[in-house]
Amino acid sequence: MTDCINIRFQDSDDQEMMTDEKWQAIISNDASYNDQFFYAVKTTRIFCKPSCKSRIPKKENVCIFQNAEQALHANFRPCKRCKPTNEKLPDSEWVAVITEYIDKNFTEKLTLEKLASIAHGSPYHLHRTFKKIKGMTPVEYIQKIRLKIAKEYLIETNKSIADISTYVGIPNKPYFITLFKEKTGHTPTQYRQLRKMEE
Ligand SMILES: [Zn+2]
Repeated sequence: MTDCINIRFQDSDDQEMMTDEKWQAIISNDASYNDQFFYAVKTTRIFCKPSCKSRIPKKENVCIFQNAEQALHANFRPCKRCKPTNEKLPDSEWVAVITEYIDKNFTEKLTLEKLASIAHGSPYHLHRTFKKIKGMTPVEYIQKIRLKIAKEYLIETNKSIADISTYVGIPNKPYFITLFKEKTGHTPTQYRQLRKMEE
């Protein structure tokens, strides 16, 4: 469980053991445990009160902390929904959490609903806040990342268009080609040929 914490804190005993009792409190959103511990999720880097009604994480990804300070020191961010530090997370930080998640997981199927559930907020609020901060919607941002990586693959590898479209999280090849053309003015094959000629 050492990857939950910073090197700096590795020797301390800030981190608590997960027990069946704590796990039960987490999955039943038991508010009576709220002053006893906090739980953090490694994959999203967000931490919550036991009572948080966000979706239940995988048990192996959960770290337990005695207080919010320790979770913050270990580089986790407070959940926007249950506000474990009892302060509102600034929108820019919330959007940063989601942007990081997209950057790491763009190869998977990502919907606004899924992102909202991971980020502990409503899809509507996520859409609006993300656009306010980044100037584009989460779906536009996902597309942008996918096309950026696709361009790199087209130039730097000889992978087929089908392989690249699957790799960047758009398994529907015709859709990938249409989207690519719409955003760049060229089909993926044209783009690759043009860039190769430039070399
Ligand atoms: Zn929460």
